[in-house]
Amino acid sequence: MKNYSYLLWTLLFLVLLGSIPLLLYNRGVDVARIVGFIVLIAIVVALWYWRYAIRKKSPRNERIKLDANDLFWLEKNISFYKKLSKNDRKIFLDRIGIFLADIQITEVDKEVADKETCFYVASSAIIAYWGLPYWNYGELQEVLVYPTNFNMDNTLNELGRVGGKVHHGGLMDKTMILSFPELKKGFQINNDKKNVGVHEFSHLLDKSDGSIDGIPPFMEKEDRKIWLNIMEREMSKINSDSSTIPDYGGVDKTEFFAVVSEYYKECPKLLKIKHIELYNVLHSYYNQPKIKKG
Ligand SMILES: [Zn+2]
Repeated sequence: MKNYSYLLWTLLFLVLLGSIPLLLYNRGVDVARIVGFIVLIAIVVALWYWRYAIRKKSPRNERIKLDANDLFWLEKNISFYKKLSKNDRKIFLDRIGIFLADIQITEVDKEVADKETCFYVASSAIIAYWGLPYWNYGELQEVLVYPTNFNMDNTLNELGRVGGKVHHGGLMDKTMILSFPELKKGFQINNDKKNVGVHEFSHLLDKSDGSIDGIPPFMEKEDRKIWLNIMEREMSKINSDSSTIPDYGGVDKTEFFAVVSEYYKECPKLLKIKHIELYNVLHSYYNQPKIKKG
């Protein structure tokens, strides 16, 4: 519904403004002065209200500025960040600031999400999209962080198998869920090829072309063919226990993409040694090479 309240304001101003010359003519300067003063006050109030309403409708989303303590924390806890060059670190921090300004992070058992949690979530996003020239998070509005793992129906369960989830369609379409213990573990253990935050944001990346199908979005036609071939081969190796890729990557194509993205981001050197073809295609994808074939 459109808001026509401004029409009422405008009408009121016009009536008051119009009354000033009439008052000047009929009753004298003093009353006109008072009316003029009222009009002035009304204009100031209206402008203030308008500004407030606009801000309320579309928050400014100014990027969050990080302080020295934050940088220290990132250096200590996010090894991906630690390994970056000085220039790349600047980009990383910039993206963290934008992420934190744009995406609501909610810890379901706390009134306000801990800074540590926010940094783990944001770092997961930045790492998953790292190297891509496009890096918006689509429709994502909120990341819910649970204090434990959960079941497929999103109910809390300490022994639950689910540590993270991206929804596609339905009421939760704009929401991601992560389990805090799993999220933290992903950053504490740096050599197990696993990071649930990066995993879920890789699904989100997969979703950005409209479908979660295990095919990296915006991949060129030729590269898609190569990808599908490699994926088929690597998945059958996983399912016959002759691969260094975690078993979960053999479940289906969508999990394959998320699992190998985790692997590539966390242990690129190992992936290069063990799965050179897969490494090459991921390396090329995440760096968006400028030179096109043919
Ligand atoms: Zn998954």
